[in-house]
Amino acid sequence: MLKKKEQLLELLKIHYGYESFRPGQEQAIDNILHGRDTLVVLPTGGGKSLIFQLPALVLEGATIVISPLIALMKDQVDSLEKVGIPATFINSSISPDEASARLEKVKAGYYKIIYIAPERFYNQSFLEGLKGIKISLFAVDEAHCVSQWGHDFRPSYLRLRDAIRFVGRPPVVALTATATPEVRDDIVKQLAMKEAETVISGFARPNLQLAVIPSQNGQKLEHILNFLVTNPDLGAGIIYAGTRSKTDEIMELLMDNDIKAVAYHAGMDASSRDWVQEQFMSGAARVVVATNAFGLGINKKDIRFVIHHDLPGTVEAYYQEAGRAGRDGIDSFCLLFYHQQDRYLREFFIKGDNPEPRLIVEIYDFLLRRAELEIDPDASVLVTYAEIGQNLSESVPEMAIGTALKILEKEGYISRPNEKNSSSFLKAKRPLAEIGAAIGKRSKMQVEIWEKLSLKYATELESGWDFSPEEVAVVLKVKKDSLLRAVKKLAEKDLVEYKPPFRGTEIKILKIVEPEDLNLDFKALKEKAARAYEKLDEMENYVYHTGCRQEYILNYFGDLSAKPCGKCDSCSRLKKHPESGKKHEYLISE
Ligand code: ADP
Ligand code: MG
Repeated sequence: MLKKKEQLLELLKIHYGYESFRPGQEQAIDNILHGRDTLVVLPTGGGKSLIFQLPALVLEGATIVISPLIALMKDQVDSLEKVGIPATFINSSISPDEASARLEKVKAGYYKIIYIAPERFYNQSFLEGLKGIKISLFAVDEAHCVSQWGHDFRPSYLRLRDAIRFVGRPPVVALTATATPEVRDDIVKQLAMKEAETVISGFARPNLQLAVIPSQNGQKLEHILNFLVTNPDLGAGIIYAGTRSKTDEIMELLMDNDIKAVAYHAGMDASSRDWVQEQFMSGAARVVVATNAFGLGINKKDIRFVIHHDLPGTVEAYYQEAGRAGRDGIDSFCLLFYHQQDRYLREFFIKGDNPEPRLIVEIYDFLLRRAELEIDPDASVLVTYAEIGQNLSESVPEMAIGTALKILEKEGYISRPNEKNSSSFLKAKRPLAEIGAAIGKRSKMQVEIWEKLSLKYATELESGWDFSPEEVAVVLKVKKDSLLRAVKKLAEKDLVEYKPPFRGTEIKILKIVEPEDLNLDFKALKEKAARAYEKLDEMENYVYHTGCRQEYILNYFGDLSAKPCGKCDSCSRLKKHPESGKKHEYLISE
């Protein structure tokens, strides 16, 4: 019983009061009514519910809807009842008697839709109750929960493949807002969907003007500054940088040029982060310079630009970060500054995140030998990452050592009860006034910090002192990172003696095996690394892409129907849409 377009529109009007379908809805509904398995990827708020509710009305029998959000089931059912669609739900909040009563009413054809929590399929009497009910559609909402790559994995979703078979293998529709290719593939695989049609839509952001700006090393900061200075009325924005120290550096450069900026990264304590966020949200700071730690849950709609100083590791990460611009629908810029060598920083992170199996084995071996030297065999080993690093057969970044230890800890070979820290040491190498004069007027931030420091801690600086950067930062009312940066700069110029704090870790060996017998999933580790490199390649391809940038991103997410945006740097250059490309020829004056 296929419905024509007009009939569907009429149902849409009668039941929901809407005049037209949103992008993707009609195609998905049409697929479902043709009995085809369908994967629907629409952003949050895109209108996914309607895609299974409308067919449920039309199809004979009942539609099962799997939803992980037990708390929302009742609301959804209530609002369906209001628009005249008889629906019910079964979850742990209702009694077994009530559950079977509801199933009876489904069987009798009274309810068209049953919302079910995935855990239900572990319940024998529920499975019994389902027998004899014709299920004409199986809808899996929030379907990314089935994927272990996703951010919200629910083991109970893995049951659904069997559940679908159990209810007679009706057509399956899976719905999610997560557009990453591997999560999508995983959904299709885990639910055993057959030749699934993918409907993906609504991720285009027509008000974003995307551009990539090739920059020689050392020119990026100049270009970014130039952009901000020549567009003073553009409004607020985010500058993403690849490392914590870079965020501070850029922030200081902006401040030195009278642009109100704050820096944000995960190394800052919670109260500083709150303060920075508040400065940006309230408009007191025009720019926040941040690592990728910044942004989740930021609800500022009028962000006019997002600049990337460094290449992001994946297209997903880029679009998520860039997409924080222009939430109010007003034209906004997303600029990525690029230099060929940017890839190395990303590879460095991938290596740090994915230590080679033999490195893990070697570190474990080193820890065993160190533990043997201890008099008390139960005592823990106290080492710095640097010390571990020195004892390895090749040099690796500390981050890789940290990750290797994390993997050993996760698999129960070691535990790390304590991170150990000691304070830093600081001593002036010349008379204080001379140091102040030697800094140079251009570095406003350093001058300011040195003035405060030498005023408050003159005796300590002269005699040399173990100092706690946290404490001193509070006393001087400066940020810890700015303080440390200033101190490091002074040490580089040989104006002060500075010893950074000891950062080490206390390690307890929990299991002793021959290092080569370590039972780790090396294959999975290798696959994870390979995937990270592939994703980096796709991000780099974005940089070199000569066609429309928006189209590239949407294609990456699987929306093959995407059209050129007409306003990115490529479109402007290709003059495909001269009238809309012209407006924005501002960019960088070189
Ligand atoms: P999603 O599950 O994709 O996040 P919902 O299904 O909850 O989104 O729908 C979001 C909102 O959009 C709801 O208020 C819904 O009623 C509304 N909506 C859905 N389809 C349409 C449409 N065709 N026209 C207008 N509003 C719609
Ligand atoms: Mg939804």
